[in-house]
Amino acid sequence: MNKDLHPVTPLLTENWYTEKFTTEGSSFGLQVTQTLHQEQSDFQRIELYETSHFGNLLVLDGCIMLTEKDNFIYHEMMSHPALFSHPSPDQVAIIGGGDCGTLKEVLKHKEVEKVVQVEIDRRVTELCQQYFPQLCESNSDPRVEFYFGDGINWIKNHSRATLDLLIIDSTDPVGPAAGLFSRAFYSACFAALKPGGLMVLQSESPLYHSQTIIREMKTNLLDSGFENITTRLFPQPVYPSGWWSCTACYKNDPEQMNDHRMKRDKRFATGYYNAEIHSASQALPEFMRE
Ligand code: SAM
Repeated sequence: MNKDLHPVTPLLTENWYTEKFTTEGSSFGLQVTQTLHQEQSDFQRIELYETSHFGNLLVLDGCIMLTEKDNFIYHEMMSHPALFSHPSPDQVAIIGGGDCGTLKEVLKHKEVEKVVQVEIDRRVTELCQQYFPQLCESNSDPRVEFYFGDGINWIKNHSRATLDLLIIDSTDPVGPAAGLFSRAFYSACFAALKPGGLMVLQSESPLYHSQTIIREMKTNLLDSGFENITTRLFPQPVYPSGWWSCTACYKNDPEQMNDHRMKRDKRFATGYYNAEIHSASQALPEFMRE
C-alpha cells in the first residue's frame, strides 16, 4: 500500500518484512527466508521475497502486493462476480494486474473471446512469470493480448463502446496509478464500454477508506455516468486492516438494472468465490450503508 495513504515504513529486520501503516497505527509482517530479487524499474521499486508460511511475496514501492498463500481471494473477487453478472462478457480489458492473477481467473470463463491486459511496468509481469509461475500459467492463451503502457492513455485512445468488462486492478492512488482513480479516467472508461458494460475497480480497505477513497470513487463514478454501483467486501490478510473491497458499476442497460445475480453456473474450480459468496459479499455493514 502507499506512502501517502498510510505512511509506510517497510522494514526487513531479523528476517521479518514489516509494512507499517503509521496513520492507522498498525502493521503487518511476514517472516522472510530468502531475498529473491530487488530492482528499481522505470516506474517503481520491485522486491521479491520467499517467506516461511505465505510462499513468495511481491512488494512494489514498499507496499505488499501479493503472496502465494492468499492472492486467490483478491483475484477471484476482482473477476468472477463481475463476469458472472454480465450475460455475455466477450471483450474484456484489465488495467494494471501485471502479476497476471486476475487474468488467469478471467480466462476460466469460456464466454470471454478476448482480453487485453494493459500494464505500465513490463518488469512486474516478467518477474511474476519467474517467481509466481502458477499465476501466469494461462498467459499463452490465444485470447490474451499484452500491452505494456499507461492505462490512462490506452483507455483515452480506445474505440468507443467496444468493451463488455473493464477491470481496474491497480496499485493505490499515488504515483502512476493516481490517475486511475480520477473522474477523467472513469469518463474515458465509460466511453469505451458498450451499453450494459461493467467496470470493476479495486477499492481499498472498508475499515480505513470508506469515508475517503471509496466515497470519492462512488461520487466520481456517478458523475461519469455509471450507475448501479456495488461494493463487495472480502478478507485479504496481507493488505492494511486485512479487509478489502472491489467496486463494480454499470454503463446503463435497462435489462441489467439492479441485477447482480449470477447469470450462469460456475463450471470451474475456485478457492474462495462461489454462488453464496457472490450474494453475501454485497452485504454492507451499517457503517458503510449511508
Ligand atoms: N492488487 C494489488 C493491490 O491492490 O495492492 C495490485 C495488483 S497489480 C500488481 C497493480 C499493477 O498496476 C502494478 O503492476 C502497477 O505497475 C500497475 N499500474 C499502476 N499504474 C498503472 C497505470 N497508470 N497503467 C497501467 N498499469 C498501472
